[in-house]
Amino acid sequence: MKIIILGAGASGIATARRLHDAGVAVQVLEARDRIGGRIWTDCDFASFPVELGAEFIHGEHAVTHQLVAAAGMAPVPVDRYGKLRWSDGGPALLLDMLPSERRRMIVALFRALDALRDIPEPADRSLAAYLRAHGFDTGALEVADVLLAQTCCAPIETLSCADLARELRADRAGKREYRLREGYTALLTWYARDLDIRCGAAARLVRHSSGGVIVETDAGVFHADRCVVTLPVGVLQAGTPRFEPPLGAGKQWAIGALRVEPGTRLLYRFDEPLWDRDLTFMAHAGVAARWWTPGYPAEDAAVIVCYATADRARMLDALDAHDALQAGLRELQTLLGRDDLAQRCIAATRVAWGADPYACGGYAHVPPGAAAARPVLAESEGVLHFAGEATAFDSNPQTVHGAIESGWRAADEVLTCQ
Ligand SMILES: Cc1cc2nc3c(=O)[nH]c(=O)nc-3n(C[C@H](O)[C@H](O)[C@H](O)COP(=O)(O)OP(=O)(O)OC[C@H]3O[C@@H](n4cnc5c(N)ncnc54)[C@H](O)[C@@H]3O)c2cc1C
Repeated sequence: MKIIILGAGASGIATARRLHDAGVAVQVLEARDRIGGRIWTDCDFASFPVELGAEFIHGEHAVTHQLVAAAGMAPVPVDRYGKLRWSDGGPALLLDMLPSERRRMIVALFRALDALRDIPEPADRSLAAYLRAHGFDTGALEVADVLLAQTCCAPIETLSCADLARELRADRAGKREYRLREGYTALLTWYARDLDIRCGAAARLVRHSSGGVIVETDAGVFHADRCVVTLPVGVLQAGTPRFEPPLGAGKQWAIGALRVEPGTRLLYRFDEPLWDRDLTFMAHAGVAARWWTPGYPAEDAAVIVCYATADRARMLDALDAHDALQAGLRELQTLLGRDDLAQRCIAATRVAWGADPYACGGYAHVPPGAAAARPVLAESEGVLHFAGEATAFDSNPQTVHGAIESGWRAADEVLTCQ
């Protein structure tokens, strides 16, 4: 049996690894000139690897740790939420330093999110509607949009409570966070060793029948018995590749029902760290709403990163890169209480995943009324199988470990077809 895998991101590599290790012939077709997809480490921006896509391992039990240990790497713990600083205008302050009413509201928001886990069948409404029903006012919803919805790359008004509750119940990964000193790309490169991966092979047409699969790509035509599609939802929504015959009605519904919003990173390097060494995470209700420090104290790392999603990312993407970076810098000045950042900044760059034709956004979310979209997207159709972060209906979508688990699931499906 020969299997084609479309996409060499975390899910595609995980599928390929499991099949290859089971003795199955696997060919991975990747549109870009690199592997990793939404994993992309930059080793030139600073004196240490800086992530342009996925950065954290979310959870002490995330399956990613299995790979990290096997690769001989050591994850570095990061305490973002325990050291969260919030700003209502001036410099960002640790929660303990905020007026008590503000602090209580922020803590109550996180509790309200966690409480979704214990509501057996939460009404399938938006996170905004759920919070309003629990007495949170407009001001609190602005904070929730930054601290809860932005993380999910979603506007608070279109983020399904039912899907959040599902994820909270399915979560096996835990809450602690880690980074990889060597960078995520190094991990994936190790995981992809010995695999047959053809880069520059953007799939344009997938012909499928009970007899097998023919994939037409920019790098030629490839034949296999089965195909695992691990492409981002935004790419599938854009109609690339075309499927012949077209995918079934359920699959098309799921692809259309999931929402994909842009996700944009602004990265800055300064001549020296212009913040105290304890700064890990700060946020406010601006456009450049969430910031963290990707460096490690030992390296005296003077790098800070903003990650904006949904409407905020759209606003940053509408500016040219220089103006977007300047806008971010102005907000950072307020958050740090400094006025010299423009002079001290020695490198800056923007990474707009919404403008990337092979990602078409950050990661997919489920709007109210579409709770079935993830499992339907994951269902196989004849000789086609589906993986990718958005299909991780039984773990944590929107993550690297969810993508890996989805790849393993698709590989197991293929193995049962032998
Ligand atoms: C800015 C950002 C920050 C993130 N932060 C985190 C984080 O801190 N922690 C975390 O766990 N997750 C994070 N994520 C999410 C995580 O990156 C993804 O969930 C995961 O990497 C998705 O893997 P995947 O294999 O499903 O998709 P992808 O990585 O997108 O892989 C799909 C592959 O398909 C390729 N492709 C596209 N079109 C074609 C085509 N026509 N033919 C062939 N190949 C094609 C793409 O180039 C890509 O390589 C972040 C994502 C972004 C964008």
